[in-house]
Amino acid sequence: MSLANKTVDIRENRLHTILHYNGDAQDLNERGKKGELQIGNSGYEQCGNCQEGCAVGQVYGILDAALIEHAPLGCYATISASCVSGKSTAKARGKGVFHNKAICTNISERETIYGGTEILREAILEAKKRYDPRVIFVTTACVSGIVGDDVEGTARDTQDEIGVPVISISCEGFKSRIWSSGFDIAFNEILRIVREPRKKQDDLVNIFNFVGSDTFTPLLSMLNLRVNYLPSQTTVEELSQISEAACTATICETLATYIGDELERRYKVPQVKAAAPYCLGWTDRWMREVAKLTHRESLAEQVIQKENERIRPELEVLRKELGNQRVYVFAGDAYAHNMANIASDLGMEVVGMTTYHHDQYADTREINTLNFMVESVGNVPNYTVCNKQPYQVLKFLKALKPDILIVRHQALAVYGYKLGIPTIFEADSNKCVGYDGIIELGRRIKRVFQTRKLIQNISENAELPYTDWWMDEGTDPFYFEGEHQ
Ligand code: SF4
Repeated sequence: MSLANKTVDIRENRLHTILHYNGDAQDLNERGKKGELQIGNSGYEQCGNCQEGCAVGQVYGILDAALIEHAPLGCYATISASCVSGKSTAKARGKGVFHNKAICTNISERETIYGGTEILREAILEAKKRYDPRVIFVTTACVSGIVGDDVEGTARDTQDEIGVPVISISCEGFKSRIWSSGFDIAFNEILRIVREPRKKQDDLVNIFNFVGSDTFTPLLSMLNLRVNYLPSQTTVEELSQISEAACTATICETLATYIGDELERRYKVPQVKAAAPYCLGWTDRWMREVAKLTHRESLAEQVIQKENERIRPELEVLRKELGNQRVYVFAGDAYAHNMANIASDLGMEVVGMTTYHHDQYADTREINTLNFMVESVGNVPNYTVCNKQPYQVLKFLKALKPDILIVRHQALAVYGYKLGIPTIFEADSNKCVGYDGIIELGRRIKRVFQTRKLIQNISENAELPYTDWWMDEGTDPFYFEGEHQ
């Protein structure tokens, strides 16, 4: 195993990430580049994410690894969703049947008082016995952190006993207000299983991604390149080879520019310095950048021309049909920019956006998707940052009345329907990738519009759990961020 950085700083310190903003995209971009904005506070939070869940999500899907959450059962609840998406991703990518290989130590009052290293040790031994994994990851939670369990020491000692690497991931939720800090912490530990390159693989491209279908393989096979889809549904062996790849790309800078940077710094694996391939212009630019790094420039030009010509007839029809529609995007930071960009490419007007956070500085200076989005979409007039908080977004939507809403997370789609707004739930972040992805989203939007009557029906019969005072148009959506917090 190679040595990772000992720790990685949380995003509020490293990237000056903010959680609150109200203005427009251009202003956020300009002020963000100077790091002028403060993280912000609110006196009331309806919901939120936790960095432990994000860290777990990155290591849970590694096929021949096991995971131990050293946590109470409540923190482990997200595993059920990870298991479902692991199974569907395995099916979509032809990887066979995905099996859950996670154990929760189920920290209770007893361990909170007397310490939990003994049950952690038992869980590690049990994971070895049940799953015979190549690597065991141990994630921590608020309780194990507050109690002060020596997780690192227990992992080291038990590793010697069982002869399998046991890697602890220190991702207690309380350590960062920015849940995406958990991605960086997990990747920092994943780097421990990356080996020194034995032989460069000139046709291999690392793609850091979430779960879902495989759309990068068809895209990159046109350049005669192979895809190393990471980290979910890979084996430890495939992960250990990422130092040998020709280049690294990520589907959004929020996810993986930290590890992309580290791979460039440690192993000279260059990172693709372009926005991810969402919409025509960004796909063309991304393909050219990948081609430059893999010495396939003339092939790329042929592919770009051919693909543009192939999709043009249907794209023109979609642009005509969707051209007068007003769209609102509600998603994670960089992924929201991807979605807004495609919507704009389909001819729609992006009237507003809410992102869950905003990284003012990028790990990789050249990849700033807000900047790219302002260049390609133009200014988005109603741009807010809030850590989900449907109670606020509901008011933005009621005021703007968009024709369509695009959300990235399931529960948030429900709000669109309750308000009578046709909503796209973009669970699979791979679907909109590349040339076919633009067409695919356009077709889905058309299908959602066909269900308008049903959505109208839902909204007429749905009750929202808010008081008349909150629903009143005169009540400020930022009430709890002001003097009342
Ligand atoms: S914030 Fe703490 S207690 Fe809550 S889920 Fe995350 S780790 Fe568990």
